Amino acid sequence: MIISVASGKGGTGKTTVAVNLALSLNNVQLLDCDVEEPNSHIFIKPLFERSDPVFIPIPVVDKKKCDGCGRCKEVCAYNAIAVTNKKVLIFPELCHGCGSCEYFCPNDALKEEEEEIGVVEIGEKDGIEFVHGKLNIGKMMAPPVIRAVKKHISRKKTAIIDVPPGTSCPVITAIKDTDFVILVTEPTPFGLNDLSLAVEVVRKLKIPFGVIINRSSLGDKKTDKYCAKENISILMRIPFSKKIAEIYSRGDSIVEYLPEYKEKFLRLFKEIKKITSR
Ligand code: SF4
Ligand code: SF4
Repeated sequence: MIISVASGKGGTGKTTVAVNLALSLNNVQLLDCDVEEPNSHIFIKPLFERSDPVFIPIPVVDKKKCDGCGRCKEVCAYNAIAVTNKKVLIFPELCHGCGSCEYFCPNDALKEEEEEIGVVEIGEKDGIEFVHGKLNIGKMMAPPVIRAVKKHISRKKTAIIDVPPGTSCPVITAIKDTDFVILVTEPTPFGLNDLSLAVEVVRKLKIPFGVIINRSSLGDKKTDKYCAKENISILMRIPFSKKIAEIYSRGDSIVEYLPEYKEKFLRLFKEIKKITSR
């Protein structure tokens, strides 16, 4: 089973849930797809054994063959090509490496060159297989790095994915083709707004999901009312606790220092299995 742990915004406790759920299970993988700012490794402390660079193909113009017809600009869906005065300009930071421009160029004037945009690191800690992606500084194409991380998913294990925050392209790449999504939120007006956007995305992708309310003892009851109205299961509540905040700030895991949470995460996993088997 593949479980994504997502949130409409950063700072809700998404990584805390992903890490502690992984630490509570056997035969598990934790894949950190928050490739712009991966931080699950801080809490897992894996020993990295492998590091694989991630490349995307970027087109390069052969000026001798190019007649400035502009076909490449027309077919580029990402505005990564400009043609002015019959001169072609390619903006590699916008290029998705889709290959359309090369395919449609009538003069065979485009060739692809591999450009490194990030890295996937693979490691292990106490039986947990750990994989994360890191997007190189200045690069904007998170989805290819996320896909490279997801290639390591093993269907023989339970895979937990730490999803990037928000509701944009990288989030969809991370949660697509997963079996269940945990949406982590906090009971504040901002939290509720971002949760409702994330719910829309997950519903469009038709993936079963449920909500965890973090710092549930703070804020208001509007998240509870929203979930009740929308018929969304609240899978777990994590009340605010100074002890948990201290554990987190030290880079430690909750289940190690508060073992009663291991039981809670195991119950969460059982509940998810029940929902996905319906
Ligand atoms: S499609 Fe080919 S020939 Fe036409 S402008 Fe682009 S690179 Fe040049
Ligand atoms: S490879 Fe795709 S995204 Fe990149 S410039 Fe060509 S058409 Fe645009």
